Amino acid sequence: MYVMMVAVVALLSAACGRMLPGVTLSPPLTALVGGRVQVSPDLDAIADGIVLIERDTITAIGPRASARIPSGATVIDSTGATVVAGFWNSHVHFTQPVWAAAATAPAPRLGDALRAMLTSYGVVHVLDTGSFPDNTEALRRRIESGEIAGPRIMMASGSLVPVGGSPYYVLPARLPEASTPAVTATLVDAALDRGAEGIKLFTGSWASPRSIVVMPIEIVRASTDAAHRRGKFVIAHPSNSAGARVAIEGGVDILAHTFPSELDRRPWDRALPGMMRERGMALIPTLKLWPYELRKAGAPPDVTKRLLGNGQEQLQAFAALGGQVLFGTDVGYMTEYDPTDEYVSMHEAGLSYAEILRALTTAPAERFGMAARTGRLAPGLAADIVILDGDPALDIRALARVRSTIRAGRVIYTNR
Ligand SMILES: [Zn+2]
Repeated sequence: MYVMMVAVVALLSAACGRMLPGVTLSPPLTALVGGRVQVSPDLDAIADGIVLIERDTITAIGPRASARIPSGATVIDSTGATVVAGFWNSHVHFTQPVWAAAATAPAPRLGDALRAMLTSYGVVHVLDTGSFPDNTEALRRRIESGEIAGPRIMMASGSLVPVGGSPYYVLPARLPEASTPAVTATLVDAALDRGAEGIKLFTGSWASPRSIVVMPIEIVRASTDAAHRRGKFVIAHPSNSAGARVAIEGGVDILAHTFPSELDRRPWDRALPGMMRERGMALIPTLKLWPYELRKAGAPPDVTKRLLGNGQEQLQAFAALGGQVLFGTDVGYMTEYDPTDEYVSMHEAGLSYAEILRALTTAPAERFGMAARTGRLAPGLAADIVILDGDPALDIRALARVRSTIRAGRVIYTNR
């Protein structure tokens, strides 16, 4: 059957080429018809809307009654669904064995893995916050060539640690130690030369299950100076309040996590959300990660509840000050892919549906300099779109119930 179809397609292309010289086929048109269309987090949804797509770009949006569906368009019935901009996950990793040898691995294996981890949850953009850069680069190349359906990948690499601060959980591997400002600048330049969009630091690093090594501020400063000189951002893994404070004071742009840990049961540092807001930093909550890690460590339920509560308080305090929140889960390190618990925890922390949608769309588009092309639904912008079953304004869990994911006009996931 497959062979026959290939033969027929080849014949058709050959026939078109001979019979219609100089004629190009009309551009593919798609119409999403009948959904609640949420063009941006801060505007009311269009109740019975239509989105028209031509190739990779949105060409029209409005109430269904106001639009004519062009003949020849592929119609995607969106009745009962909510249509929103494509999602970012700003904290992912490609370190599981399924991503190995991405340059030569069979495309279906990588495509299935991307679907399971990301695109089936509406993700069209990711920030890889530390994997194997050459491997991620190979995966990115194969996605961008169109061979494999997947998200657009940005990378923050380097993964610099303070002296003696390589995380115990990556053993036997050791991450590069930033020993002096000069060494640090060289490591940053090398990571950026290899094509990374940003730099990852461990400003507070779990060197053992009971100790966190904090990066000296002059090393943090050397990293941010070297990255900013080249117009690149720095993202830091804080671990606790001391690791967050040195990141903030050292000029880091994004915290990769909240920082709920209480070594010696010291309460978290409540000055930090305000300091982050003043400096225009962004925060990635990764709230689901805390119960996940504590479960693995066999922590009692009251400890889990308290530490998750700390993370939620940090998120709540920062968001209430108008701080920029970027959605991210640490998926790929975390082997549970479903983001539902992250949405529920953010919502419980007091973030509204609009604030969570902002963290998934407009906030990362602005942070990563792509707001002119994506992050909202508008004519002229990229057709990066998620079609959700149900209405997340009524049930936040609907953000994880995805019917279809469209990246630049191409359906990269559908459950129907
Ligand atoms: Zn991570």
